[in-house]
Amino acid sequence: MIGSTTKRDLRTGRSLWADSSGLGVSVDRLAAPISVDVAIVGAGVSGAFMAHELSKTHSVAVLDRRPPLMGSTVASTALLQWEIDLPLTELAKKIGPQKAKRAYLRSRRAVDALKQVVAEERIACGLKDKSSLYLAGDQHGHRALEAEAAARAEIGLDSRYLGPGALRERFGVERTGAVVSSGSASGDPARLAAGLLRRARANGARIWSPVEVLQAVSDPDGVTLLTDADHAVRAKSVVFCSGYEFPRGVPTPGLDVISTWAMASTPRQRCPAWLRNMLVWEASDPYLYMRMSGDGRLIVGGEDEASPVAHSDKAKLKRKCRTLAAELRRLLPHVAFEIDYAWAGAFGQSTTGLPRIGPVPGMEHTWAVMGFGGNGITYSVIAAQIVAAEVRGEGDADADLYRT
Ligand SMILES: Cc1cc2nc3c(=O)[nH]c(=O)nc-3n(C[C@H](O)[C@H](O)[C@H](O)COP(=O)(O)OP(=O)(O)OC[C@H]3O[C@@H](n4cnc5c(N)ncnc54)[C@H](O)[C@@H]3O)c2cc1C
Repeated sequence: MIGSTTKRDLRTGRSLWADSSGLGVSVDRLAAPISVDVAIVGAGVSGAFMAHELSKTHSVAVLDRRPPLMGSTVASTALLQWEIDLPLTELAKKIGPQKAKRAYLRSRRAVDALKQVVAEERIACGLKDKSSLYLAGDQHGHRALEAEAAARAEIGLDSRYLGPGALRERFGVERTGAVVSSGSASGDPARLAAGLLRRARANGARIWSPVEVLQAVSDPDGVTLLTDADHAVRAKSVVFCSGYEFPRGVPTPGLDVISTWAMASTPRQRCPAWLRNMLVWEASDPYLYMRMSGDGRLIVGGEDEASPVAHSDKAKLKRKCRTLAAELRRLLPHVAFEIDYAWAGAFGQSTTGLPRIGPVPGMEHTWAVMGFGGNGITYSVIAAQIVAAEVRGEGDADADLYRT
C-alpha cells in the first residue's frame, strides 16, 4: 500500500504505458555496414517524429541501444502542452520579450501540428484535446499569474485568469488564483511514438535495434557512426535524439538531468467531471501535476529532484508516491486515489525552459536535440520541424530560439 488502499498488486517501477497494446515496431539487426541519407540515434518520441518527417524525403536509419520507445518516452505522463516550464513573463526577462513571444507562439503551433500529424496518419494513441489549469503556488502567486494571463492574452494566446472565488466555484479547488488556457492535449506517448515509427517504416525507414552508437566521426561528405555491432553506419547527416543520455563530447551548457516521479490510479477512478478535460499543474517547487487517461485513470506526477540517478532508487519511489498522494489529497480531498502503477524517470531541464536543438559544434552534418523539460514532447515536434528543414537545406525562422 502506498498512500491509499489498493486491491491490486502495485506495479512498482513499471510505467503505465509499458503495458499499452499496439507498441509493436519491427526492428532489424545490424549485420552489415549500411549507408543512408540520415541516421537518427534514438528511437523514442523525438526520434520517431524526426524519422516520420525525414523519411518523406530521405532514406533513414533509426538506431537504438534498447528496443524502441524504452527510454524516457515510455515513462512520460504526456501532458501535451504549449505552456513552457518558465512562464512567458519570466522567459521574457531571460531572453527578451520578442523571443519569449516567439517561443510561446511556436510551442502553441507545435501542439496543433502534433494533433494534425496524429489525425492525418490515423495514429491510435488516445489523443484528446484538453485545456490546462495552472494553479498559483510557492513559485508564482496569484499576482504573478494574473500578469501571466494578461501577457499571454496580449500575444493572442487563449489564457484567462481566475481568482479564488471563480476557481472554487468552477473547479472546487482552494487556491489564491489560476490561469486557464485552451489548446493542449494528452495521449499515450508510447503508442504515439510507435505509430510514428511504423509510418516512417512505411516510408522506407528502417529501425536497427539493439545497436549502440559508440562514436561519431564527421568529414566534409558525411558522418560515420561506429557501433557495438561491429558494423559502421555511414550517413550524409546524423541527428542525435538520444534523450537524457546526452551524446558524448557534445557541450550541454545550462542543461541538467534530473529525476521525476509519477503514478497512475486504477481505471474508472472517481474524479470531478471537469478533470476529464483538463491538465492540472501548479507554480510550485516541487510541483504536482495531473491528468486523466482514456480509460479513466488519474495520472499524477511531480516531486522532481536535482539528481540524475535518484529515479532508480526503489525506496525513494515509495516515499515519493506517498508525498504525491498527500499533495493530491490536499488539492482534491474527495478523490480516493487507488495506486495501480508507480514509476520514475530521468528528465531534462534548462535554465530557460527551452531545449537545445541545433548543429553539434565542431562536427559537420550533425545535429543534437537535448534538454527537453516538462513539455518535452512538444519540443520533439519542434525539433523535427527545425532539423528536417535544415537537413533539406532550408531554414527555420525560429531556429535561433533553441541554440542558446
Ligand atoms: C516521468 C516523466 C514524466 C514526463 N512527463 C511529460 C509530460 O507530461 N509532457 C511532456 O511533454 N514531456 C514529459 N516528459 C518528458 C518527455 O517524456 C521527454 O521529453 C521525451 O520522452 C524525450 O523523448 P526522446 O525521444 O528525446 O528521449 P528518449 O525517449 O529517452 O529516447 C532516447 C533513446 O535514445 C537511445 N540512445 C541514447 N544514447 C544512445 C546511443 N549512444 N546509441 C543508441 N541509442 C541511444 C536510448 O536508448 C533511448 O531509447 C516526462 C518525462 C518523464 C521521465
